Amino acid sequence: MATTVTVAATTVLAGRPRWPTWAVGDFREIVIANPFPPGAAMVTTLGAVPPFGAKSGKQEITTDLMTYAIFPGTPDSPVILHVPHASRSVAGAEFTISPSEVATELDHLTDAYTDMIARQAAGASASRPWIFENRLSRLVVDPERFPDESEEMRAVGMGAVYTHGYARRRLRSDDPVRDEALLRTHFRPYAAAMTDLVGERLAATGRAVVIDVHSYPAVALPYELHASGPRPEICLGSDAFHTPPVLLEAASTAFSRFKRYVNSPFAGAYVPLAHYRRSPEVTALMIEIRRDQYMIEPAGAPTAGLDVVAAALAHLVDAA
Ligand SMILES: [Zn+2]
Repeated sequence: MATTVTVAATTVLAGRPRWPTWAVGDFREIVIANPFPPGAAMVTTLGAVPPFGAKSGKQEITTDLMTYAIFPGTPDSPVILHVPHASRSVAGAEFTISPSEVATELDHLTDAYTDMIARQAAGASASRPWIFENRLSRLVVDPERFPDESEEMRAVGMGAVYTHGYARRRLRSDDPVRDEALLRTHFRPYAAAMTDLVGERLAATGRAVVIDVHSYPAVALPYELHASGPRPEICLGSDAFHTPPVLLEAASTAFSRFKRYVNSPFAGAYVPLAHYRRSPEVTALMIEIRRDQYMIEPAGAPTAGLDVVAAALAHLVDAA
């Protein structure tokens, strides 16, 4: 299912002024020669902490139709940092709203810089975790929704394929044929790859710990179904089956300098459906970082708080 491509990694010492706090170490520009579509290339900038062991040279990551990327951790790490909503790429999606309106949707619905937070935390961890990143925006397909009627967000047009946006305005027409095509080309390969990665961690270490890295706005958006609950600096999403108390306590300790709340304003944790409520050795926790803790809202630059959040996440990785 997955296609392995070779990635040429080049160390770029010149930092990017946009992220001054990170311009102190190696920057690495990763160009992924992408066969889908022909001639396209995906460029991503990795943070100051090199994501791989080597300083430069060729590394391999796995992609599937550009929908996700896996950054390897150490062989003995059971931890997977899952980053589902960091991308602003809407490649392949068509909308009935204008490009500037799509940009506004992205400003509010993207968990900006959560990919950077995960990579920085991975680099600071004693045992490097694995990272699974969605390379497309949730406006294309949201990999964390249930793909069937059990998904409560369908009530506001935000099931796996959103027909409505953050302010409940229409983004696309109702089209079950298109939805099924997107599930086939995006949702299911993504889920299969995540399931495979969880299976590999289970086989290698006897367990898997999925830590979902999200962020959310300080002020509730119109689409939110549970907007009246507390909006702490850090929301910990737990699941009755997959989140053991010890994991929740580890998160509470790692993020002790932040005000925390469990399951508000967002609840639950992501586990691939193949393991959902079946495999107790697959544990999971969602970290929802309130965006004012690390960036200018909405869609502005990161702040110095990003380093603090990433350091706390690294502590959790080490304890998980
Ligand atoms: Zn999110």
